[in-house]
Parts: sequence; C-alpha cells; structure tokens
Amino acid sequence: MRTMSTTETIVTQLLEEIKKIPKNKNQLQIVALTGSGISKGSGIPTFRGKDGLWKNYNAMDLATPQAFKRNPQLVWEWYAWRIGLILDKEPNPAHYSLTKLEEARLLKWLITQNVDSLHYRADSKNIIEVHGNIFRAKCEKCGVKIMLDKAPTEPPMCACGNMLRPDVVWFGESLDQVIITKAYEVISNECDILLVIGTSGLVYPVADFPFIAKDRGAFIIEFNLDDTPISHIADFVIHGKSEETLAKFVDELLEIID
Ligand SMILES: [Zn+2]
Repeated sequence: MRTMSTTETIVTQLLEEIKKIPKNKNQLQIVALTGSGISKGSGIPTFRGKDGLWKNYNAMDLATPQAFKRNPQLVWEWYAWRIGLILDKEPNPAHYSLTKLEEARLLKWLITQNVDSLHYRADSKNIIEVHGNIFRAKCEKCGVKIMLDKAPTEPPMCACGNMLRPDVVWFGESLDQVIITKAYEVISNECDILLVIGTSGLVYPVADFPFIAKDRGAFIIEFNLDDTPISHIADFVIHGKSEETLAKFVDELLEIID
C-alpha cells in the first residue's frame, strides 16, 4: 500500500499499472464503490453517532422493520425530514467526477451504499444502489414502487390500500437478492480498477467487495479521510476530502489517458 496526500504522482504511477493490464483503453473497466463519505462534501449527515440524532431518537431506533411496525407515522416523519434535508443539498465535485468518468466510457458501474440519490442527480447512469433509495417507497403487499419528488406530509399509501414504506434496507434486513447478485457479478467479472470512495469498509456484504475484486486481480485505489479496514489491500490510498482528491484524480486521468 502506498499512501499519498496528493494525486499527482498516483496518476502517473497508475498509468504504468494500467499499461500492464492487457487491454486497451476502450476495454478497460473501472468500477466505483461509494459510501457516505462521498456525500459528506454535500453536507449530508451520515446518520451514525450524533449525526443520526433526530428528536432524541437515533437511527438504530427508527431504521428497522420493528420501528415501522410499531409506529409507521413516526418513521415516515423521520424520512420526510431526511428527504427534505437531502433536497436542500447538491451533488459535489466527487459525484460529478464519476459522471465524467462514465461519459468518457471508462467507468462501467457505480455501486453505492448511499440512499441519497445524489449520483442520479449528478447524472450518473449505471448505478447499483445496494441499500435502496430514500426517494423511493414500496408496497410490501403488492410490490409496487413509487418515486417521491418531495418530502411526504403523510405516510404515502398504495393503490391497494396498504401503507408504503421507504425502499431502503433497514438494520436487520437482507439486501435485495437481484441487486446484490448484480453487484457481485460486476465486482468479480467486470472490474480492472476499483475506486473505493468514502466507505468505512465496515458494512457487509459491501465491505467484502474490495477483497473480491483484489482476488480477481483488480487494482484498488481508495479515497478516504483516514485509513479503513480496506486500506491494507489497496494499491493506492489517497487521503483527503473526495470532492477534492477524486475530482483532481479524474481530471488528471482523463487528461492523460486520451
Ligand atoms: Zn400495494
């Protein structure tokens, strides 16, 4: 592992590594894996620790199937507050740099743990949201999903008469099988370079992704404020705010790789 505080030398060294990959630029497959750290620069709280407090409840007491069963009104009130908060914020240069990389046909997939939809708002296309999307609600009875464009003032109801729930993965729930299978496929078979951005490396099964990619021969570059449990297997670790480091890295990469 080589830890750097700037991206200058990394891009040059990365290009040397890319040359070793027996593919030309058009076949090179870059995958990004993002976590809450990428949205920090947009002012989105992480909902862990003191960030997660709302009316003296913490996220662990609200983001569970039990909490929703007990008091759906309260849970929706919390989600409405969060949706309003997110709508007030904008994607930051880190989100936009991944869009640029995708438009340059270098980024193949973007796997995110975030539910804030900021990658969509930054116009990224091939997004795999492993933990759902806070702007989507689903009916557990009939399976219908709807998008919310603003914070609901009342818990949204399904046409079938059932109350919808936020389409996010709550504590204690398993991930959507179809989505997680797709993510495993991408990580295992379509990834020459994995950019791991702002993820703690603690939430499973996503925390395993960099290890799987590494086993399959991918080159791993981590962008984070600090070291994480992933850092020791990363080929490069770039410390700093991703809205600065990733944006600079992508600009330099696009400039040289053309
Ligand atoms: Zn329904």
